[in-house]
Amino acid sequence: MCQGIFELKNLIFYESRVAVAKLNPDQAFEGYSFLTLKWHEEELYKLADKDRKQFLEDMSLVANVLSKAFKPDKMNYELLGNSMPHLHWHLVPRYMSDPMWGRPIWAGNRRRKRLNEEGYQLLKRRIETHIPTPRNKTMPRGKAE
Ligand SMILES: [Zn+2]
Repeated sequence: MCQGIFELKNLIFYESRVAVAKLNPDQAFEGYSFLTLKWHEEELYKLADKDRKQFLEDMSLVANVLSKAFKPDKMNYELLGNSMPHLHWHLVPRYMSDPMWGRPIWAGNRRRKRLNEEGYQLLKRRIETHIPTPRNKTMPRGKAE
């Protein structure tokens, strides 16, 4: 996982000081994305306060952006780390039309859905139009990194 953070560069749509967000290659739930911590840590409570706050803020920002882009009926936020013990959020837009509506996405078998490159880029463009740019905010002087 540590090595994979910047892989699948074509799927990355957001980066902050602490984390990187990218589309899950499996788009069975439209907009399904990961937000991954940039360095190795396994537990939220082990992060320094300011890093944890930033990580949580990023998670909320990405969830908000996904909800604007895809208008889901519900957003799922999951931080599990059982098979991959490196802090990463699963942000899963849920739709009443999905066959697992009302249940966790892990309950039972489900079909994966891969897109072609153009499909991923279309999703990214939809997402990126909703990402607030630093230019729209008042940034502290000298910290506009
Ligand atoms: Zn790691």
